[in-house]
Amino acid sequence: MICGTIGEDYTAKFEIPKPLEQLQESEMERRYHISGVMTDVLGYLTYRFVESGFEWSLPVVFSESTDPLWPDPGASIEKRIDVEIYGKTVRTTASMIIHKMVACSLLYPRLFILSPNVRIEKRERAQTGRHTYEFTQLDFEVRDASSRDIRSLVEEVVCGLIGDLRRDAVEELVYLGRHRTLKTPEAPFKVYDMRELEKKYGKEWEQQLALEITDPVWVTSIPREFYDFEDESGKWDNYDLILPQYGEVLSGAKREWEYDKIIKKMERDGIKKEHYGLLLKLAKEGRLKQSAGAGIGIERLVGWIVGAQHLGETQLFPKIPGVVYDL
Ligand code: ATP
Ligand code: ASP
Ligand code: MG
Repeated sequence: MICGTIGEDYTAKFEIPKPLEQLQESEMERRYHISGVMTDVLGYLTYRFVESGFEWSLPVVFSESTDPLWPDPGASIEKRIDVEIYGKTVRTTASMIIHKMVACSLLYPRLFILSPNVRIEKRERAQTGRHTYEFTQLDFEVRDASSRDIRSLVEEVVCGLIGDLRRDAVEELVYLGRHRTLKTPEAPFKVYDMRELEKKYGKEWEQQLALEITDPVWVTSIPREFYDFEDESGKWDNYDLILPQYGEVLSGAKREWEYDKIIKKMERDGIKKEHYGLLLKLAKEGRLKQSAGAGIGIERLVGWIVGAQHLGETQLFPKIPGVVYDL
């Protein structure tokens, strides 16, 4: 497989993963081992979250509100999918952030969802090796939690997961050439402020940082969508988890819950308020609770663990930007 580099270097040339029916025997064997790791990862994560008192909810596909994916500077969507059903316009799930905030406020103090996300990424993103146009997040939210609580939980889960895989998925990791190189990280992970990283590395800070680190690290204070908490000084209380050689695998934050502040941020960002009717109603009534959470990109997590060159290798039916296979 031809090697590329991480991030937004569109000159990198990744071999685009083929669909199942075109795989040679050895490629089939590789996919089979990657699937074995995927099964173990999903088994471990769901077990850990349930054991930690999280409710496990099923995902939804169509809703009036979904993640605006803007003004995230990394967002690069070619097209949004709006469809009319029963006389109403709904959107396919870009992430279940709004649903999590609502469910966490009204019903479950701790919940998670394995949620399929549809993001029609620009076709050149096929060459980052890190983007597909359908992927799954393990999206979770905790009422009254702080960012630090969430980061500690994630650290425990990631260290536990790698430790378990190194013990229980030896055959797969040895076959994939990762048993020797995949080390169980040590918690707590280092924390970097994005503004400092930008000063040091410029706009390409994520790629540069990922190439320098040997353990996962946190990056905080990242300008993102309206729902992440910003204090009076404009500092964002949020975090991304960056994997060595790989890049971002998780984004999360403490959330905004106050009506006036959410409205101001939506206006600042040019977000259509009419797409967020329920969220705004709950906030106005004081029924939106304080929470924090995050979403782990499952394909990216598994891609890092198995050493996939392209994320499509972790998908049984690859959804690569610009490439539409039969299935
Ligand atoms: P990036 O900047 O890398 O494109 P993002 O910051 O826009 O990603 P988020 O909105 O933070 O992505 O999504 C949460 C997580 O979902 C990411 O940390 C990543 O693991 C995963 N993810 C996001 N976009 C994709 C994609 N197109 N393909 C696969 N996984 C993705
Ligand atoms: N899952 C992310 C979060 O919890 C939202 C996103 O997908 O961008 O913050
Ligand atoms: Mg992100």
